[in-house]
Amino acid sequence: MAEKVKRRKTQAKTAIVDILKQSTQAMTHQDIELALDGLCNRVTIYRVLDRLVKEDLAHKLVDVDGVTKYLACRDCGENHLHHHVHFSCEQCGELTCLYHVVPKFTLPEGYHLSEVNFTVRGDCPKCSATSSAAE
Ligand SMILES: [Zn+2]
Ligand SMILES: [Zn+2]
Ligand SMILES: [Zn+2]
Repeated sequence: MAEKVKRRKTQAKTAIVDILKQSTQAMTHQDIELALDGLCNRVTIYRVLDRLVKEDLAHKLVDVDGVTKYLACRDCGENHLHHHVHFSCEQCGELTCLYHVVPKFTLPEGYHLSEVNFTVRGDCPKCSATSSAAE
Protein backbone atom coordinates (compact mmCIF):
# COMPACT_ATOMS: atom_id res chain seq x y z
CA MET A 1 0.00 0.00 0.00
CA ALA A 2 1.28 3.46 -0.88
CA GLU A 3 2.36 5.57 2.10
CA LYS A 4 -0.01 8.35 1.22
CA VAL A 5 -3.08 6.11 1.11
CA LYS A 6 -2.09 4.45 4.36
CA ARG A 7 -1.75 7.78 6.10
CA ARG A 8 -5.15 8.89 4.87
CA LYS A 9 -6.75 5.71 6.22
CA THR A 10 -5.26 6.20 9.66
CA GLN A 11 -6.43 9.77 9.56
CA ALA A 12 -9.98 8.68 8.74
CA LYS A 13 -9.98 6.19 11.60
CA THR A 14 -8.70 8.74 14.12
CA ALA A 15 -11.24 11.29 12.94
CA ILE A 16 -14.15 8.85 13.21
CA VAL A 17 -13.09 7.71 16.70
CA ASP A 18 -12.91 11.36 17.78
CA ILE A 19 -16.34 12.13 16.37
CA LEU A 20 -17.90 9.12 18.11
CA LYS A 21 -16.21 9.94 21.41
CA GLN A 22 -17.36 13.53 21.32
CA SER A 23 -20.95 12.57 20.65
CA THR A 24 -23.20 11.57 23.49
CA GLN A 25 -25.71 10.40 20.92
CA ALA A 26 -25.57 7.31 18.78
CA MET A 27 -24.65 8.27 15.22
CA THR A 28 -25.72 6.94 11.85
CA HIS A 29 -23.37 6.56 8.86
CA GLN A 30 -24.85 9.75 7.50
CA ASP A 31 -24.23 11.72 10.71
CA ILE A 32 -20.62 10.58 10.65
CA GLU A 33 -20.24 11.41 6.98
CA LEU A 34 -21.56 14.92 7.61
CA ALA A 35 -19.32 15.41 10.64
CA LEU A 36 -16.27 14.32 8.60
CA ASP A 37 -17.02 17.03 6.11
CA GLY A 38 -15.65 15.24 3.06
CA LEU A 39 -12.55 13.79 4.72
CA CYS A 40 -13.36 10.32 3.43
CA ASN A 41 -15.96 8.61 1.30
CA ARG A 42 -18.85 6.42 2.33
CA VAL A 43 -17.04 3.13 1.63
CA THR A 44 -14.12 4.13 3.85
CA ILE A 45 -16.55 5.12 6.61
CA TYR A 46 -18.26 1.70 6.44
CA ARG A 47 -14.90 -0.07 6.57
CA VAL A 48 -13.59 2.01 9.44
CA LEU A 49 -16.80 1.52 11.45
CA ASP A 50 -16.63 -2.24 10.93
CA ARG A 51 -13.06 -2.22 12.15
CA LEU A 52 -13.88 -0.09 15.19
CA VAL A 53 -16.58 -2.57 16.18
CA LYS A 54 -14.13 -5.49 15.81
CA GLU A 55 -11.49 -3.64 17.83
CA ASP A 56 -14.01 -2.84 20.59
CA LEU A 57 -13.71 0.90 20.16
CA ALA A 58 -17.33 1.30 19.22
CA HIS A 59 -20.46 -0.74 19.24
CA LYS A 60 -23.29 -1.02 16.85
CA LEU A 61 -26.95 -0.77 17.67
CA VAL A 62 -30.15 -0.78 15.74
CA ASP A 63 -32.80 1.78 16.54
CA VAL A 64 -36.45 0.74 16.78
CA ASP A 65 -36.87 2.10 13.26
CA GLY A 66 -34.23 -0.30 11.99
CA VAL A 67 -31.56 2.36 11.53
CA THR A 68 -28.03 1.20 12.33
CA LYS A 69 -26.16 3.54 14.63
CA TYR A 70 -22.77 3.61 16.28
CA LEU A 71 -21.66 4.62 19.74
CA ALA A 72 -18.17 4.92 21.19
CA CYS A 73 -17.48 2.29 23.84
CA ARG A 74 -17.54 3.92 27.24
CA ASP A 75 -18.68 1.74 30.10
CA CYS A 76 -18.82 -1.68 28.48
CA GLY A 77 -16.14 -2.93 30.83
CA GLU A 78 -13.12 -5.06 30.02
CA ASN A 79 -15.02 -7.73 28.19
CA HIS A 80 -16.95 -5.43 25.93
CA LEU A 81 -20.19 -7.27 26.27
CA HIS A 82 -22.55 -5.52 23.96
CA HIS A 83 -25.61 -7.56 24.73
CA HIS A 84 -27.11 -4.81 26.86
CA VAL A 85 -30.42 -3.15 26.17
CA HIS A 86 -30.63 0.18 24.36
CA PHE A 87 -33.36 2.56 25.27
CA SER A 88 -34.86 4.75 22.61
CA CYS A 89 -36.82 7.73 23.91
CA GLU A 90 -40.00 8.51 21.98
CA GLN A 91 -39.92 12.14 23.03
CA CYS A 92 -36.34 13.37 22.73
CA GLY A 93 -35.10 10.61 20.44
CA GLU A 94 -32.11 9.90 22.64
CA LEU A 95 -30.65 6.42 22.46
CA THR A 96 -29.06 5.29 25.71
CA CYS A 97 -26.92 2.27 26.60
CA LEU A 98 -28.36 0.46 29.59
CA TYR A 99 -25.13 -1.36 30.35
CA HIS A 100 -26.51 -3.22 33.33
CA VAL A 101 -29.67 -4.43 31.67
CA VAL A 102 -28.79 -7.62 29.90
CA PRO A 103 -31.63 -9.84 28.74
CA LYS A 104 -31.22 -13.52 29.50
CA PHE A 105 -32.12 -16.08 26.92
CA THR A 106 -31.03 -19.46 25.74
CA LEU A 107 -30.81 -20.41 22.12
CA PRO A 108 -31.88 -23.85 20.96
CA GLU A 109 -29.12 -26.28 20.11
CA GLY A 110 -27.39 -25.63 16.84
CA TYR A 111 -27.86 -21.86 16.93
CA HIS A 112 -24.79 -19.71 17.43
CA LEU A 113 -25.02 -16.14 18.51
CA SER A 114 -22.97 -13.47 16.80
CA GLU A 115 -24.84 -10.26 17.42
CA VAL A 116 -27.70 -9.11 19.61
CA ASN A 117 -29.92 -6.09 19.23
CA PHE A 118 -32.32 -5.15 21.97
CA THR A 119 -33.88 -1.76 21.69
CA VAL A 120 -36.63 -0.70 24.03
CA ARG A 121 -38.84 2.25 23.22
CA GLY A 122 -40.48 4.53 25.78
CA ASP A 123 -39.90 7.70 27.80
CA CYS A 124 -36.47 8.39 29.25
CA PRO A 125 -36.20 9.67 32.88
CA LYS A 126 -35.65 13.24 31.68
CA CYS A 127 -38.77 13.24 29.51
CA SER A 128 -41.02 11.40 31.96
CA ALA A 129 -40.01 13.94 34.63
CA THR A 130 -41.03 16.87 32.43
CA SER A 131 -44.27 15.31 31.31
CA SER A 132 -45.40 14.39 34.84
CA ALA A 133 -44.47 17.89 36.10
CA ALA A 134 -46.75 19.39 33.47
CA GLU A 135 -49.75 17.35 34.56
ZN1 LIG B 1 -17.57 -1.95 24.16
ZN1 LIG C 1 -36.25 11.61 26.41
ZN1 LIG D 1 -24.80 0.22 24.04
